Amino acid sequence: MRDTLVLNASFEPLSTVTLNRAIVLVLQDKAVVEQAHPELRMRGAAVDIPAPRVIRLCRYVRVPFRRQAPWSRRGVLVRDRHRCAYCGRRATTVDHVVPRSRGGQDTWLNTVASCAEDNHRKADRTPEQAGMPLLREPFEPTPADAMLLTLGAEEFAALPDWLATDAA
Ligand SMILES: [Zn+2]
Repeated sequence: MRDTLVLNASFEPLSTVTLNRAIVLVLQDKAVVEQAHPELRMRGAAVDIPAPRVIRLCRYVRVPFRRQAPWSRRGVLVRDRHRCAYCGRRATTVDHVVPRSRGGQDTWLNTVASCAEDNHRKADRTPEQAGMPLLREPFEPTPADAMLLTLGAEEFAALPDWLATDAA
């Protein structure tokens, strides 16, 4: 996937995101296209727009000089796309892999999205003790992910189904 350069509202380069994420930001009116690919267009039932090569955020974001995103419950849910780490259904809570009562911390690598049932069932145990293996390992969001968290983009999303890429 080609990367798109993201400029702050002040035109200062911030980061790159995948083309998919760039399109989502434009469709959500969080960014405007500054420069488009000359040949590549995104086509769907309702839209036909040039694939952005450079986008600019509509709102100025202050980017802290840190490489990692600060941990937050909401950030964990967004990172995991609101999918339960134990059963894959919709998640509304955040579970500590190593429970806080056993010294587990509020960190990206120790927390996962979880449905309320599994969070309750796992209770004060590790996944091994509870016999509830993780469907995927938790990870640290990249700086680009962190920027999207700052923006509040709801999903680290793929394109809507109705959009397809094609080269003219
Ligand atoms: Zn679950």
